[in-house]
Amino acid sequence: MKLSSRSKPYIIPEYSLTGDLLSFLTCNLQYRYQNKGTLPPATPIQLWFGEFIHGVMEEAFLKWKLNKTEFPWDWKKDVRPIEDMIDLRLQIRGLYPVSDHFISTINNKELKSEDLIEKDHKKLASARAHAAINTWGPHLFPLINSAEVLLKGIRDMPNYTNNRARSNYYGINGIIDVLSSIKIDKITKNSAQSTLDNYNNKIIKYLRNNKEFQENLEKIEGNEYEIIIDYKGMKRPSLNDDAWIYHKWQILTYAWLRSKQEESKFIIAGIIFYLNELVPSYEDLQAIQIDINNNKTDVEIDKDDYEKIMNWDEDKKYYPQLSNKFKENRSIRIITINSEEIDNALKEFDIVVNEIEESLIKETEGYKIKDAWKAEADERTCKVCNFKTFCNNKKNKSRKFTVP
Ligand code: SF4
Repeated sequence: MKLSSRSKPYIIPEYSLTGDLLSFLTCNLQYRYQNKGTLPPATPIQLWFGEFIHGVMEEAFLKWKLNKTEFPWDWKKDVRPIEDMIDLRLQIRGLYPVSDHFISTINNKELKSEDLIEKDHKKLASARAHAAINTWGPHLFPLINSAEVLLKGIRDMPNYTNNRARSNYYGINGIIDVLSSIKIDKITKNSAQSTLDNYNNKIIKYLRNNKEFQENLEKIEGNEYEIIIDYKGMKRPSLNDDAWIYHKWQILTYAWLRSKQEESKFIIAGIIFYLNELVPSYEDLQAIQIDINNNKTDVEIDKDDYEKIMNWDEDKKYYPQLSNKFKENRSIRIITINSEEIDNALKEFDIVVNEIEESLIKETEGYKIKDAWKAEADERTCKVCNFKTFCNNKKNKSRKFTVP
């Protein structure tokens, strides 16, 4: 009797939008070591802050929903307990803050939370958390329909006809930070009919003042839509920075994944909040100066802010008091959603998946890790990368977009 051989297990590789695709795009080799290996980065300050600010915003929303605590929130009374809770959660996962950015009282015998003084202990991460809650919370929280919405989808594996492909499909998933369901009337000559709430809401005002959003609004029927919201613990990218376009693809792909869910409504836009902009660090201020000098920013600046920021330098040992309006304008980015742009984003991510699969296959075929995965990243990424000691290829990165 002939014994049949066991068939190969059928796997569908799963890719997370941020954890895999955006991470791979930041640097292929760093992604390999961090996500596919077992080497956690030793000083993951960016990773820590990203997780911290997401956790703080989510908990702040839950607290607001429960108690309707009025804004502005006091740092020590209202915000710090949330920070402590998130700090503890992160430490359990092995993510620790650096003391320049955040004073942790967990396991600190000398300093208790109740002894904290705002002037001395509200470091950069706390200042950003406090500013994010008080700037956007009053306008965003009332618009939130659900937070942390899990999305999953499936796509054809690019290049499946190639015999080396692992599967005919790949799974793609992501988590929307916030999904907001809004009612917004079209701006018409009769716009006085719009609800009063809409007028008082800063986020709705930003949407109304956005030309592309208005054009999109005019094309569609109804007045109830969904908006996808994503928090980013970073500076607003320069217009020539790859991250500028990657973030747009991320929102467009979320929109595609969300549209597949039965209960979804029409998704009209995405909003990214670049939360570092509310309290920029010295490094961020220098990067903003460069963006202005090179005309690589989409945010207008008035004369007063222009002079403050251009006359500032780190040696002057003071912090320029930029206007709230300027900081808010830099913090909010509106991305309108349309089907052609969604198709482009999906095609781009198919290409990224194909590149990851190619590198994985090369590695299983015996290539050395450094030969199977490209080592290219921008200067800022390399500067804080824990693998730089054994990475010998620190070229500045420039990716060519295949889809216009
Ligand atoms: S040093 Fe730069 S190029 Fe090398 S692995 Fe790290 S991020 Fe990538």
